[in-house]
Amino acid sequence: MRKKIVAGNWKMNTNIQEGLQLADDVSSMIEELNYDENKFGVIIAPPYTHLYAIAQILSPKIGLSSQNIAAYENGAYTGEISTEMAKSVGVQYVILGHSERRKYFAEGSSELLAKVKLSIKDNLTPIFCIGEVLEERNAGKHFEVVERQIKEVLFELPKNDFEKVIIAYEPVWAIGTGETASPEQAQEIHSFIRKLIVDKFGNETAENTTILYGGSCKPSNADGLFSQADIDGGLIGGASLKAKDFIELIKIRTKY
Ligand code: PEP
Repeated sequence: MRKKIVAGNWKMNTNIQEGLQLADDVSSMIEELNYDENKFGVIIAPPYTHLYAIAQILSPKIGLSSQNIAAYENGAYTGEISTEMAKSVGVQYVILGHSERRKYFAEGSSELLAKVKLSIKDNLTPIFCIGEVLEERNAGKHFEVVERQIKEVLFELPKNDFEKVIIAYEPVWAIGTGETASPEQAQEIHSFIRKLIVDKFGNETAENTTILYGGSCKPSNADGLFSQADIDGGLIGGASLKAKDFIELIKIRTKY
């Protein structure tokens, strides 16, 4: 059965002192919680500069993710960080295809496919983000958009590699806007994504794929979202920067 997950994307927030404090706060609060770690996982994705230091103090109940990774193994790529470098400081996951990377850094499917393949080869678990912008939603094209984003990248993988990926559906109009998809809107597209996986790789793979929701998810709206059948947890931006809110989201996710 698929794992439920709450993951925090810190984006370009916190200096090292603040980041260490936040990681320490979440680590000590999580020690108070009892849940089955085989069924439920917690991940944080701090900025690159914090990863090594945070790895030293992080609760073993929390996985460590980078927010991106280079599409190349090593060499003359000034400013880039390789999968090998990330692994060597304790990183286990990598967020790929986040809408901010697609928008501000023009990341498209071919680059993302290279990053996904390299991450899997080097044993980093991709958290692969997909989602439509507002104009696409208003034009009723959201199904088409997520289908294309999945097909051009994840469905290029062999089944055994696809099975290593976590998917995050993040409607771009809901990211950082305070506006969230309704539980019904989110469930509708999550179940559509799972059906695509059934058609491509079969029922068992689809049932075992974790599909997270992201977009202004916070304690006040998480119950409705996390109780949906095909929403396996959340990729959390803003609310992951407040230890109490992040822990509250974890508590809500472990209820269902
Ligand atoms: C995100 O950036 O992945 C995200 C979901 O952000 P927020 O929760 O702030 O909308």
